[in-house]
Amino acid sequence: MKEGAPIRRIVIVGGGTAGWITAAALARFAGGSGRRIVLVESEAIGIVGVGEGTIPPMVEFNHQLGLDEAEYLRTSHATYKLGIEFVDWTEPGQRYFHQFGEIGRPLNGVPFHQAWLKYRNRPSVGPLAAYSMSAVAAANHRFAHSSREPASPLSQLAYAFHFDASAYGQYLRGFAEKLGAERIEGKIVEVEQDGETGFVTALRLDDDRRVRGDLFIDCSGFRSLLLGGKLEVGFEDWSHWLPCDRAFAVPSERDGPLLPYTRSTAHSAGWQWRIPLQHRTGNGHVYSSAHMSDDEAERILLETLDSKPLAEPRLLKFKAGRRAKSWEKNVIAIGLSGGFLEPLESTSIHLIQHAVQKLLALFPGPGISPVERNEFNRAMMGSYEPIRDFIILHYHATRRTGPFWDHVRTMELPDTLKHKIELFSEHGRVFRYDNELFDVPSWVAVMLGQDVLPDCAEPLLDLMPEPEVLRAIAELRRGYEQTASKLPLASEYLERMIAV
Ligand SMILES: Cc1cc2nc3c(=O)[nH]c(=O)nc-3n(C[C@H](O)[C@H](O)[C@H](O)COP(=O)(O)OP(=O)(O)OC[C@H]3O[C@@H](n4cnc5c(N)ncnc54)[C@H](O)[C@@H]3O)c2cc1C
Repeated sequence: MKEGAPIRRIVIVGGGTAGWITAAALARFAGGSGRRIVLVESEAIGIVGVGEGTIPPMVEFNHQLGLDEAEYLRTSHATYKLGIEFVDWTEPGQRYFHQFGEIGRPLNGVPFHQAWLKYRNRPSVGPLAAYSMSAVAAANHRFAHSSREPASPLSQLAYAFHFDASAYGQYLRGFAEKLGAERIEGKIVEVEQDGETGFVTALRLDDDRRVRGDLFIDCSGFRSLLLGGKLEVGFEDWSHWLPCDRAFAVPSERDGPLLPYTRSTAHSAGWQWRIPLQHRTGNGHVYSSAHMSDDEAERILLETLDSKPLAEPRLLKFKAGRRAKSWEKNVIAIGLSGGFLEPLESTSIHLIQHAVQKLLALFPGPGISPVERNEFNRAMMGSYEPIRDFIILHYHATRRTGPFWDHVRTMELPDTLKHKIELFSEHGRVFRYDNELFDVPSWVAVMLGQDVLPDCAEPLLDLMPEPEVLRAIAELRRGYEQTASKLPLASEYLERMIAV
């Protein structure tokens, strides 16, 4: 049986990145036919607005919305991103690259990394990153869109963006308002519910206005005003696995060549990001407050900046975990109100876009179907956990020492991650389950980058003659190097794009 009234008024609570992404997508795909989309936000409360890193599905999301890439780049101060360089994570002095896109090409159906594992000690073979188009382009500071020609190494280049999430939010605000979404400025002081069903019926603002709705999207940030607050949906706390709970963020001057990748550097109780945008560099130090004081975290950040800070560092507090459900009654949490995983792999904004796509795929009508609501919850719950495991892997597979690293290196892991590591440790095998976000090449890059080395490589590789495998390895490497050398510098390519 369907629950509640037909969805004529959708009310979005919050105008951060989550609120405006949701408003833009709903206005584009679920507006019209007399349905109103209303967004309530409070300038006095403000937004988090620190997101700067994204992953490749964002390219497709923007495309689905119908955004023009050049306009998006200009308005969001965006640059191209080909992956993340991890510095000092395995141990101080060691670095590796988590590339976007494939690693090599399969040899007789055997994943390429197996051949690399078997022959990696040969002098001609070199690092794993030499076999990724994105990684080789990144190392040379080069970029171009991928080729549609499947045989070309450039067809394997995958990219995302570095951007200013607040500017992106404002860009989408203009987009949504043009499509008819309405914005109400005001502070919500009360949430009204139907006495019988418990459905949320209206929001009361501090000037006594009432905003009625049939479906409420809670994009109120960490407050989780409706889902966590009014409907009391519990928070599953994952901080025993991910103890970092604070960050200082600070912009600094643009300096040096434009790097088409994020840099993540491990510190004694967390890590630091460096993200190049068009007009500035974004920096932040994520740390565990149980292992480091705020003063020390701020000092480390300021001492390790590449360029002059442009503002005072800003302190943000958070907790890793997610709500037990994302959709309860007629309230759906999207964004920080539904959960948070630290920005190590730039996944929060992706989770917003993923939730919006799922909502559109299960859009209620004429009332809310409990079966479809359950399906939404199943999909969202299942999205967080593999990302959580992937992030934990970075902390756990390390030789770093000290109170923070000793804790994460020796802690009990979630069973799902334990299984992945055990399986990889046998023959370097890894599989993607249930459409999880990070595909095999991502797991391989981090496992091998952080020295999770299997006992022996794939046995099927032994059926292939050694000279044939070594020839294929050398050809692939040459192909990536030659292709990268012909690409324009990322800074030049970007300038051409935004000049259009
Ligand atoms: C340190 C840090 C670094 C991050 N880096 C990245 C990154 O690199 N990549 C990435 O993908 N993500 C990143 N994120 C996450 C990203 O910033 C958020 O996912 C994104 O900004 C979405 O936030 P939001 O819209 O859910 O919440 P918010 O930005 O907090 O917005 C909440 C909205 O709700 C409104 N509101 C709240 N209460 C009321 C009320 N009572 N009345 C009216 N309005 C109200 C506020 O005014 C605001 O408009 C990072 C987060 C942190 C903390």
